[in-house]
Amino acid sequence: MLKFENVSKIYPGDFVALEDINLTIQQGEFVSIVGHSGAGKSTLLKLLYAEEQPTSGVVSFNERSLDSINRKHLPFYRRNVGTVFQDFKLLPQKTAYENVAYALEVAGETDEDIAQRVPEILDIVGMSNKMGKYPRQLSGGEQQRVCMARALVHHPLIIIADEPTGNLDPISTWEIIQLLVKINSLGTTILLATHNKVIVDKLSKRVIEIENGKIVRDNEKGKYSCAKVNA
Ligand code: ADP
Repeated sequence: MLKFENVSKIYPGDFVALEDINLTIQQGEFVSIVGHSGAGKSTLLKLLYAEEQPTSGVVSFNERSLDSINRKHLPFYRRNVGTVFQDFKLLPQKTAYENVAYALEVAGETDEDIAQRVPEILDIVGMSNKMGKYPRQLSGGEQQRVCMARALVHHPLIIIADEPTGNLDPISTWEIIQLLVKINSLGTTILLATHNKVIVDKLSKRVIEIENGKIVRDNEKGKYSCAKVNA
């Protein structure tokens, strides 16, 4: 479903953030991307979200190069991809319900649809009983659940989570990871970028490790047999 072919990303100033990345991710996988701060994890996710373009190589989604998608059509592509970040990015003057509803309103959904879907999605993330609360009245873990609900509104095929637990305590961290596992079990592909190796070890899922812009480990089934490559 997702493919990186010989992808490099060089930022202005000749800064090589990613070098010759080759990667295939199938629909329904749960993939953790680990590496130190500055390794290139966010850059990889930004290429997938078409927020950045590769300097060379091709990133494709369902066999279509993202570079070939017209700017006008990018919002339609992006509906396939839900995003969750470390800094929750909720609108402070809107309640949990309104934050999720807003994502549907801007996409032109009808009031009837919104009234039906928002409670359903808030239920999936376990926030039904707090939908009238404002972000400042919610814990970090609860705010992240609302963000997950907002990321799910368009029934994305992929969720990109970039350090979603970076601001959370260990218990909330594990709850959010479990929620990602639940969303994955409902069929959504998950890409989780984190520097928290303890979490990914506990998950026992596919792990791609990046160091200085290069893949040094990928335990994709049958590929590297959990061994480190080029390390
Ligand atoms: P990670 O997510 O693993 O912390 P990033 O992908 O954010 O790493 O960054 C990889 C490297 O690219 C870092 O050294 C960072 O400073 C650099 N970088 C990221 N974004 C930009 C940018 N817009 N311009 C220049 N350099 C950047």
